[in-house]
Formats: sequence, C-alpha cells, structure tokens
Amino acid sequence: MEHISQRVQSLAPSATLAMSQKSAELKAQGADMINMSVGEPDFNTPDHIKEAAHKAIDENYTRYSPVPGYMDLRKAISRKLKEENGVEYAPEQIVVSNGAKQALCNVILSTINPGDEVIIPVPAWVSYMEMVKLAEGKSVIVPATIEQDFKITPEQLRAAITPATRMLMLCSPSNPTGSVYSKQELQALVDVLVDYPDIMILSDEIYEHINFTGSFTSMASFPETAARTVIVNGVSKAYAMTGWRIGFCAAPLWLAKACTKLQGQYTSGPCSISQKAAEAAYNGSQECVHEMNRAFERRRNLIVELARQIPGWKVNDPQGAFYLFPEVSAYFGKQCLCGKTIETDADLAMYLLERAHVATVAGSAFCMAGYLRLSYATSDEKIREAFKRISAALAELK
Ligand code: PMP
Ligand code: GLU
Repeated sequence: MEHISQRVQSLAPSATLAMSQKSAELKAQGADMINMSVGEPDFNTPDHIKEAAHKAIDENYTRYSPVPGYMDLRKAISRKLKEENGVEYAPEQIVVSNGAKQALCNVILSTINPGDEVIIPVPAWVSYMEMVKLAEGKSVIVPATIEQDFKITPEQLRAAITPATRMLMLCSPSNPTGSVYSKQELQALVDVLVDYPDIMILSDEIYEHINFTGSFTSMASFPETAARTVIVNGVSKAYAMTGWRIGFCAAPLWLAKACTKLQGQYTSGPCSISQKAAEAAYNGSQECVHEMNRAFERRRNLIVELARQIPGWKVNDPQGAFYLFPEVSAYFGKQCLCGKTIETDADLAMYLLERAHVATVAGSAFCMAGYLRLSYATSDEKIREAFKRISAALAELK
C-alpha cells in the first residue's frame, strides 16, 4: 500500500535537479549533452581543502560533531563574517548544516507558523517556495521582470506587506538572474522594513563571492535591522564544494538555538570531515576564490555576448552568480519541424534538451514564465558549442 503524506504530495520536485537528471539520462543513452541546467561550479575543490579532509580522517574526526557544528568552524565563520562582511555574529549564533539548503529550511521551519506570509521576490530559486510550503506558510511572490533588472523596488515591498508578514527572503547575487542589489538598493528596502519591526529578513548570500561588481554588501550590515537579519551562506559555490554539504545560518541567538533543536532531531551535526575541510576553506588562502571568480566573469562576458546574438532573446547584464536568465517569449507560438507548437518556457526548454542536447531550466520553475535559466558554470568551449546548437535549433522554429 502506498501512503504518502499530504505534506510531501504537495511539494514540487526540484526542477533544477530534475532537469539535470534528464540530461544525465540522455547522456547515458549516448547523447552528447551540454548541461547548463544545474548550478554548480565545474572546478575541483582546491587541494589545500582536500588535504584538510584527509588529515581530518587520519586524526579521527570521525565521530558525531556537536549538533550546530565544531566550535573551531563556527569561530572561523564568525571571523569571516566580521572581516569580510563587517557583521557581528558570535560563534554561538552560528549553526552549521548540510548545505545552505538545510540552513534555509531550518530557519523557515523554526520561524514560520501555518498561514504566516513570507515575501519572496521572484524570479527566485526553486526551493524557497517549497520550503515555505513545508512550513505551511504562504509565499507572497513579488515579481521583478527584466525591465527592472529583476530587482524589487521599495514600493513593491511595502505594497506586499500585510499584518501576516513574518519574513522577507532575499538572494543577492541572485539565483536565477545574476542580479546584484547595490548598497543603496538594499538600504531602500531596509528603510521600508524599519517601519515593520516584526518582519525577519532571511538573506541568502551563497553567491557572495561570485560577484563582478567589485563589492558586496551583506543585508545584515544595516544597523537598523541587523538584530532581525539571518544570513545563510556556505562553501558550496565559493570554494567549489557542492558535494561536501556544508552551509550555515548566522542568526539571533534565540533562532540559532531553535535551529539547533530542530537539526538535533532530524540530522544531527553535518559530516565531521566536511566540517574540517570547510574550516580550512575559511581559514586558508582566498586566492582560489578570486581565481574562480575571474573565470566566471570571463564566462559571463562570453555568454552575454553570445545570447545577445540570438534573435528575439532579451538579456540583462548579470553582475554575479553564474546564471543567465533571458526572456524568450518571442519563440512562443512557433512550430518545430515535428509539428509541435512551443507554447511555454517549459516546452522551449524541452525542445532545446531534445533537439540541441542543451539542458536549461524553464523560468516558470522560478515563478517567472517566459524565461529560461542557463548556468554558465561550464567551460568556455562548451558555452560556445551550446550557443551554436541553441542558435541552430531556434532557427528551425517557424
Ligand atoms: N541558495 C541558493 C540561491 C542556491 O542556488 C543554492 C543551490 N545550491 C542553495 C542555496 C543551496 O546550496 P547548498 O548546495 O549549499 O545546499
Ligand atoms: N542551486 C543549484 C541550482 O539552482 C543546485 C541545484 C539545487 O540544489 O537546486 O541549480
């Protein structure tokens, strides 16, 4: 007998992971796939971080760690936050989890009651809305299209607030658009929130270091709202450590304690060996981070140039992360050679997957129909080849 809870039935599967899986299946059948769906650095984890993991095994860091993570790692994170971001979170305010994903989920499950509203500017990463759903909260989505560089205005924020608003979730640099809020733009949002002292701010800063603006402002650096701001970050993107599964939240003490209680009941502390590797990432040389950032910037320039040559695509000027989010609705209503009509972004993503063997993700997965997301965390050569194929496949649509 199959019996799946309504909670899990109501969840959408992760579209980013699903598209990547489809790409892997086609590849296993022999297709020459270019996977621009999932967002993960194509670099290997730097050697000094891997060596720290070997050492951790040899030194028998193989037992349960404290639930919120080793104190040495939490101290390293606390120092990083102070030195790099100018924000004060004591080690006791930091909870290390299985990736930024679990850190986000811990915060949402620890603060959101059924019916509480969470304001989410969209397009937004696929998992935010599903995590809010898990908590039985309500996502209030605030759309920001390409015309406003995918960033919400203070007026939009104010208009979305109701007595039930509990939290604002923000992601800058953004997945899926690459947009980065400037200090002034963040200040304008903070100015609105000053009038609503009960609203928490959850700032997802996982793409902090993949940023081509030359500066990064943490949402927690504004004194007016710092005490109710939670930062989520981790090593997955900055240090090419997606598989190690280490992320963290830095939160008010009461919330860090709640996240620890929750984590203690369903996962315990994250992998001991990965924690020692993450400690080396934060305490070691940051040159690897700068080097990867330079490579992503070069690829950003390349993909923007190629995408602007595709007839009908509208492309913004992404300033960070490793995603391009072109507006592609000019192709809706066109027919492919097989006679099928492309009606939605999901149809177009599927067409490019099957015809061009290029995996992308439909914008509607990020709550914004009419767009595609392409991850350019792949080689220059593959980006060039992908665009040759995309261009040829789109030219066939009549
Ligand atoms: N936040 C955003 C915006 C992301 O794109 C991702 C994807 N990895 C995460 C959080 C989760 O990161 P992690 O792999 O550390 O769980
Ligand atoms: N965050 C990445 C993405 O958006 C990784 C996949 C995931 O966890 O969703 O593609």
